Amino acid sequence: MEDTSKIKVELERTKTELAILYEISNAMRATLKLDEILYIILTGVTAHIGLGFNRAMLFLVNEKDGLIEGKMGIGPESGEEANQMWSRIEQEQMDMDDLINAYKVSIHMKESGFNRQVQNLRFPLHDQKSNLLSLSVLEGMPLHLTKETISNYVHDPIVQMLKTEELVIVPLKAKDKVNGIVLADNFITKKPIGKDDVRMLIMLSNQAGLAVENSQLYEMTVSRAHSDSLTGLWNHGYFQYLLGAELDKAKAAPSSVSLMMLDIDDFKIYNDSFGHQSGDSILKELASLLKSYSRKMDHVCRYGGEEFAIILPQTGKKESYYIAERLREHIAKFSFINEEILPNKKLTVSIGIASFPDDGSNAPDIIAQSDRALYEAKNKGKNTTCCPALAI
Ligand code: GH3
Ligand code: MG
Ligand code: MG
Repeated sequence: MEDTSKIKVELERTKTELAILYEISNAMRATLKLDEILYIILTGVTAHIGLGFNRAMLFLVNEKDGLIEGKMGIGPESGEEANQMWSRIEQEQMDMDDLINAYKVSIHMKESGFNRQVQNLRFPLHDQKSNLLSLSVLEGMPLHLTKETISNYVHDPIVQMLKTEELVIVPLKAKDKVNGIVLADNFITKKPIGKDDVRMLIMLSNQAGLAVENSQLYEMTVSRAHSDSLTGLWNHGYFQYLLGAELDKAKAAPSSVSLMMLDIDDFKIYNDSFGHQSGDSILKELASLLKSYSRKMDHVCRYGGEEFAIILPQTGKKESYYIAERLREHIAKFSFINEEILPNKKLTVSIGIASFPDDGSNAPDIIAQSDRALYEAKNKGKNTTCCPALAI
C-alpha cells in the first residue's frame, strides 16, 4: 500500500516535470530571436510554475574573443523585491505564456539592476584554474556547489558576486559543443537545491543549448543578408530600413536623429592609378576606421560605391557636426597606402549632414538634404563638413 502511494507521488511529480519542460520547449520553438529565447530559458528556471529557482543567469561562449559573456539575469535584488514580484505573479495568476508576453512589452526586466550586473560580466574562456564558469565549459559537466563545497571557491569572481551559499552551474550544449551556461540559486529563500532540481535544470539546458544555437545561426544569416560583402557594413537596403526605424523612434520619443553622408575625395584618381583592387582595400580600411570611430548605437552603412552613411540616433545637428568634424580630421590624419598620389597628397572625405526634425520629417527628405550638404562640401573645396543652416 505504502509503495503504491509512493509511486503515485512519483508519477505526479514526473507528470508536472514533463508538463513544465513541454511548455518551455513549445515557447522556445515559437521564436528565433536570441533575447527572447534567453528570456524563456531563464523564466523556465525561475518561474514558480517552472523550476522555481530564486534567480538565474545566462552566459554565452564567445569563442572568437575567448570570452564567457553575461547576457541576461532574472531575479530580485532583495527579499522585499522578491515578495513584490512573486505575489504579483501569483495574484495575476500568470502562466508561462503570460510571463513571456510580459517581457515583450515591458522594459522593466531589461532595466533591472541584476540584469545589468549580469550583462557587464566577462570571464576568460580558458582560465579553468581560477574560474568556475570556464571550468564548467571545459568539462561540459554540471557543477553543484553546496554549503559544504562552496567554501573552496570563495575567491571565485562569480561566487563573490552572488554572495550565495549554494548554486548550480549547468552548461548548454549544441551537438557536442558547450555554447553557454545557466547558473541558478535560491539566495532569497535559501531552499536547499535537491537532486531533482538539478536533474530538471539539466534536462531544460539540453533543449536550451539547441534553441540558442538555432537562434544564433538565424541571427547570423539575417545579419549577413543585410551586410555589404566588401566592407561588412550594413548595405543600402538595410540602411533605408534603419533610417526609417530610427526616424519612427525619434518621432515617438520625441528625440532627434542625424544622418551623415561621406564621400571619398578624388577617389577616381586613386582607382585609375592603382586599379580597383587597391581601391577596394582602401574602402575596407576606411570602413573599419568608420566603425571603430563610431559609437555603439550608431549605424555605419555603405550607401553605395565610395559613399558611406552613418545614422546617429538621439543626436542633434550641432553634436553630429562636431562628431563629423572629428571623424573627418581623423581620416585626413590617417595614413592610407599610396595616398600621396591624390591632389592633396592625402586621402580625405567630404561630409554632408542633415537632422530630424530640423531638416526634414521623413527619410527621403533627410537623405536629399544630407546629399545637398555633401555637394556643398565638395564645391567648397572638399575635405569639409557641411550641413543645412547651422548656427554654431
Ligand atoms: P569627388 O571628390 O568629386 O568625390 O571625386 P571622385 O573621383 O571620388 O568622384 P566620385 O565620387 O564620382 O567617385 C566615384 C569613383 O569611385 C568611381 C570609381 O572609380 C570609384 N568607386 C566607386 N565604387 C567603387 C568600388 O566599389 N570599388 C572601387 N575600387 N572603386 C569604386
Ligand atoms: Mg561618389
Ligand atoms: Mg568621391
